[in-house]
Formats: sequence, C-alpha cells, structure tokens
Amino acid sequence: MTMKIAVVGCTHAGTAAVTQMAKLYPDAQITVYERNDNISFLSCGIALHVGGVVKDAEQLFYASPEQLAALGVKTYMLHDVLAVDTDAKTIRVRNLVTGDEFADTFDKLVMTTGSWPIIPQMEGIKLENIVLCKNYNHSQMIIEKAKLANRIAVIGAGYIGIELVEAFEQLGKQVTLIDNMERILYKYLDREFTDVTEQALIEKGITIAAGQTVTSFGGTDGRVSTVFTTHGEYEADLVVLCIGFRPNTELLKGQVDMLPNGAIIVDDYMRTSKPDVFAAGDSCAVHYNPTGQNAYIPLATNAVRMGTLVAKNLNRPTVKYLGTQGTSGIKIYDYNIASTGLTETAALAAGMNVKNVTITENYRPEFMPTYEKVTLKVVYEADSGRIVGAQVLSKVDLTQSINTLSVCIQNGMTMDELSYVDFFFQPHYNKPWNLLNQAGLQAVLI
Ligand SMILES: Cc1cc2nc3c(=O)[nH]c(=O)nc-3n(C[C@H](O)[C@H](O)[C@H](O)COP(=O)(O)OP(=O)(O)OC[C@H]3O[C@@H](n4cnc5c(N)ncnc54)[C@H](O)[C@@H]3O)c2cc1C
Repeated sequence: MTMKIAVVGCTHAGTAAVTQMAKLYPDAQITVYERNDNISFLSCGIALHVGGVVKDAEQLFYASPEQLAALGVKTYMLHDVLAVDTDAKTIRVRNLVTGDEFADTFDKLVMTTGSWPIIPQMEGIKLENIVLCKNYNHSQMIIEKAKLANRIAVIGAGYIGIELVEAFEQLGKQVTLIDNMERILYKYLDREFTDVTEQALIEKGITIAAGQTVTSFGGTDGRVSTVFTTHGEYEADLVVLCIGFRPNTELLKGQVDMLPNGAIIVDDYMRTSKPDVFAAGDSCAVHYNPTGQNAYIPLATNAVRMGTLVAKNLNRPTVKYLGTQGTSGIKIYDYNIASTGLTETAALAAGMNVKNVTITENYRPEFMPTYEKVTLKVVYEADSGRIVGAQVLSKVDLTQSINTLSVCIQNGMTMDELSYVDFFFQPHYNKPWNLLNQAGLQAVLI
C-alpha cells in the first residue's frame, strides 16, 4: 500500500525532510502544506539584503514548489493546516486564497511548522512601523520602510538584532539597539567579547541601550515615534522586534510531549511521543550536549539536520541525532566571532562548577609581515576537565576553530585531551603550539 506522508510547513526543516523522503521513498505519496507563498527562504540573508550586500532576494531561496513537483511531491502553497488529530491521523486544511476547507489523512506526519517571533503585549504594539524580522515578506517590508525612516530602533541584541543594526548603520540611519540584558549577545558571548563588540558598534555611532526593558510605544497619526523603556525614551520612526522566537506548535498541544515553551520533544530519531508523528527544526527542542538536557535553540543548522533525519528514520530508527552545541557565528564590522556550547555566564547560571582559559595573542608568528590579535576562551568543568563551551574573536577569520571545539564538546573531550590533539603548524596560519592546544595546556584542574 502507498505510504501517505503529510508535511506541515516547508522552510528549512520541511524542505530537508521532503527532498530526502522523495529520494528514499519514491513510491510514497508526499503532500506538503505551506501557509506562506514561498518555501526555503534563507532568513540568514535578511540583514545582508537590507544592507544591500545581497541585491537579488531570489538568491535567498534554494527550492520551489516546482522543484518539489519534479521530485514527485505535491505542494499546497497558501494552505494553512488548522487542526491535526494524531490518533485519527487526519488533518484539516484551509486554502487561504479561496477560504475552502478540506480534510486529509496520513500514515506519517512530519511537523516542520517552525517558529514565530515573540511579540510582547504592551501599549502601542499595534502602531504602524513596528515590524518583525523572520521571513521574506518581512524582509521586503523592512527594506521599504527603512527607505523612509531616519531613526531606527532594533529591540533585542541577539545575533539577528546586531546584524540588522549594522545594516541600518551602513545605510546611514541613526540606530538605537535596545536590550533588557546588561550586554549585547548575552546568550552567545561572555563580557570579554561583548565589551569589544559593543565598542565597535559605539564607534559607528550606534546607541546601545542595554539593561533596560521596553515598556510601551508612543505614536503620531497611528505610526510609531517613540520607544519607552524602564530607563528612558528613544525616538524612532521604524522599530524592528528581534526579541526571540516561540515554537509554532499549537496544532499538537496536548497530543505530544513538549517543553513548557511549547517546543516538541523528539527522541534521537526525531519521533514525537505519538507513533508516526515526526518533528524537526524550530518547532522542536534539541538535545543540548553541554548540559545533556533538552533546550530550545532555533537554528537553521539544527533544522536541516533534523529534517534530514526525519526522512532517514521514517520507517525504522536508523540514524541517530548527535545533539547540538548551538554553534553559531557572526561578523560584526571587522570582527569575526563564533561561539559553541555554554558561555561561562550561562554555565555558572546553570549551577555548573566551571573554569576557563582565555588567551589573547597574535594568531601567527610576529616575523610574518602582518598578524592580528585573537581572543579564545574555552570553558570547562572544573573537576572533570570536560569542555562545555568556547568563544573566539579576531579580525582574521578563525571561526572554524569553534567548529573544531564543537566536535570536542560533542565527543565529551577534556582539556587534557585538547592539549595534545594533532593540529598542523604553518607560519601563514598559526603558531607551532596551536591556540587550541595552548588552551588545553593552560587548563588547571581541581
Ligand atoms: C533574521 C534571521 C536570521 C537567521 N540567521 C541564521 C543563521 O545565520 N544561522 C542559522 O543557523 N540560523 C539562522 N536563523 C534561524 C533559522 O532561520 C531558523 O532556525 C530556521 O528558519 C528554522 O527552520 P524551520 O523550517 O524549522 O522553521 P521556519 O523557518 O519557522 O519555517 C516553518 C514553516 O512552517 C510554515 N507553517 C507554520 N505553521 C503552519 C501551518 N499551520 N500550516 C502550514 N504551514 C505552516 C511557516 O509558514 C514556515 O514556512 C535566522 C533566523 C532569522 C529570522
């Protein structure tokens, strides 16, 4: 009998699952429901597009319903899935163009419904020119509205907010970055790193309003004009909300196990707590290796890996998910920055007994015509020496060293082991004692 697979949502997790399933199960009947009018949009390109680096938005898509059709997949665009019954194995769908509703059945369900920006409920939130930053339509709206705006406030100093702030500054706008934490990029970097990056933003004339919470918005003629915070007020004719994401999982509420924030809990094979119901991407919690706990870390990297694993494991548990370190990178003006696992701040907040090694030195021998400073920090458990996190910052691109440390964390390696891993030396690139070896050697265990 033909296996009927229904996929809800088709951005990164959905597209990865669908393309793999089409290859692995050529006889299956795969149907995709997507409420938006496009698939596979790379949100990571929004700031580059807003800043004019990526001129053609078409390049930010890597799949289309036509491409999926060529793989034998039926895609219903502008179709919203309204309800899912995981026991009866039925879904209810609305065609958003005609308003018609219909039901469908499935043997296997793939929930790749992703996430949506958090919108704080407060006075003035409905004013015009307060916008979100998630999908293609948002990117076009931001570009259009930014043309007429002089003062732009970005709320939320995570990597999305920071990238936008830089793009707006490069467009010549007067920019304010507001965050309730006392530092920017609080989740990703410790203070040694955020001090440097904040300075880089301040030197470009960006106002950083950290350690203050937005309380309301004021407007003129229905349009935003002021952002009020616990510490003051900032004029703005465009406000972009980047304060985080919530999983889009209402459809499965009460039907599968979830974290308190609604992130679907999946096992190592992307199975939810209901048979034949799989989930991947921003709609899910991930296994976070540094703590061994489930965590909500919405990243495209997790989404494509998990989506691919849904396909591999659809009929039987076959390929295990390795979990994640939440590894991420960001470029802020001249600085190349990356981090993996826990910051020292996060580890201490989690009650872990950690130490760190922080090294600042030139990345290659001083006999070379040029060299740059690099700062590397590795966080490890004080008693066992197990590596739990790392951060790097430099004007040269040394971000790949964080991918190396991500592998170390994933494999449960200790600082002792890191001391003697075989890394190459060549004066163009590094010093005889590789920086990562040095970090290992400098670690002091209890
Ligand atoms: C500005 C920005 C920059 C980013 N940069 C990076 C980066 O550099 N690196 C990185 O790793 N990650 C980055 N991310 C995160 C990354 O974009 C997300 O992790 C990724 O999009 C998750 O993919 P997903 O398919 O799980 O979910 P989503 O992208 O949220 O897609 C879910 C899809 O499901 C559809 N859907 C939801 N509910 C329904 C329903 N009921 N019926 C039908 N369709 C439905 C939605 O329309 C959507 O198309 C960035 C995100 C943003 C917003």
